[in-house]
Amino acid sequence: MKKEENFSDWYNEVVEENGLTDKRYPIKGMNVWPPYGWKTMLLIDAIVRREFDSRGHDEVNFPLLIPEDQFEKEKEHIKGFDSQVFWVTKAGDNELDIRLLLRPTSETAMYPLFATWIRSHADLPLRIYQIVNTFRYETKQTRAFIRVREIHFIEGHTCHATFEDAERQINEDIEIMRDIAKGLCLPFRIHTRPDWDKFPGAFYTKAIDTLLPDGRTLQIASIHQYRSNFAVPYGIYFEEEDGTRKPVFQTTFGLSERMLGAVVAVHGDDMGLVMPPPIAPVQAVVVPVPVKGEAGSIGGEAEKVWKRLSAAGVRARLDSRDIRPGNKYYEWERKGVPLRIEVGRREAAEKFVTAVRRDSGEKSRIDGASLEDGVKELLDEISDSLRRRAAEKEKLLEKEAAALADIGPGLNMVWWCGSEECGKGIDEKTGSSILGIPEGKQEGSGRCIVCGKETGTRAAVSRPM
Ligand code: ZN
Repeated sequence: MKKEENFSDWYNEVVEENGLTDKRYPIKGMNVWPPYGWKTMLLIDAIVRREFDSRGHDEVNFPLLIPEDQFEKEKEHIKGFDSQVFWVTKAGDNELDIRLLLRPTSETAMYPLFATWIRSHADLPLRIYQIVNTFRYETKQTRAFIRVREIHFIEGHTCHATFEDAERQINEDIEIMRDIAKGLCLPFRIHTRPDWDKFPGAFYTKAIDTLLPDGRTLQIASIHQYRSNFAVPYGIYFEEEDGTRKPVFQTTFGLSERMLGAVVAVHGDDMGLVMPPPIAPVQAVVVPVPVKGEAGSIGGEAEKVWKRLSAAGVRARLDSRDIRPGNKYYEWERKGVPLRIEVGRREAAEKFVTAVRRDSGEKSRIDGASLEDGVKELLDEISDSLRRRAAEKEKLLEKEAAALADIGPGLNMVWWCGSEECGKGIDEKTGSSILGIPEGKQEGSGRCIVCGKETGTRAAVSRPM
């Protein structure tokens, strides 16, 4: 399947045929995680945990069900999620007094408890996160990892004594995002969403968008400043040193399995998946290449190589199945394993291995004496090269658009007067929409692409996935 000719079909095929997802579960949009896909997601989660934990955020786990009356306290929030909620209305044969809903996100599950946890300024900042499944009834066409009804979701929630401290948290979230994206070898853009497109209940929303090879964008994460929009209705107040009671300032940071969807979309090629080494469930597959009469000794050498790599912390797999090496190569290539380590007659006799890179096809020789270091160096080189390649491709997708007719696939930079009318006008006239105000691009001035008014605001316009 050619990625460039039909990206959408290519994507569906590579995620299903290589063990990342199984869509045959009898509820649409609720997919099964088979071992290869789940291992990859857990490796992404491990990076997320490392980045949150190392900055002093603590992991928690809240219940899945939320009572209706607790959900309804923040009016904008409920308006935004109302149509997507799954309800639990009965327990056995009995109607419930208060209906329960499956969390679409956990603000309304957590915040009544925050109101009891936080008493004084000494309890602040509160910084927690959880990795759980959330549920949203998507009405658009579902797509593995990108648009699903049961979502593998990561949500960070913080409470602060001041708006400024909450703003500092948002900057830290961006740092965390950079470190996570490094592990995924993915470039991303930050866009402050226009008001009509922000998270329901938020003061503002910064979205983390990745450009896909077909010129559309995928939001892989979002960071929200709530001010005290939730703290007031949920009663999350703290006592200042002078005894006055004030509502806290809150932020959230949401990430999801979409990160995996973006990894597949950005790095994959016509052969199949290309897994970045930091999140590859198998970083190196060791394949014995037997010759008649020496299969046993070559197999033994291959096993030694596998054991040494595993002991050194490389996620290695020994493929000793009784099928032709060529078939093994093909299968592991499609699964995107970064390195193939071949052990044949010459390798066994001269004490070296042949390493073949998935990203470039390049072959190299690693001496037995420096096997572990040699493999690790190659894995690092592959990661660097994937990062570079993705950044170069992404750059090609960005362009300037001076008139509505210039707007096409990719990221279009336009001048925008800031009005909702002109913002939505772009959507109506071109089918692409304003992603928001990009960071670091607000220099000079020009004329609004719709009304022609002079403006100093640049906006990024694209077709979201
Ligand atoms: Zn305008």
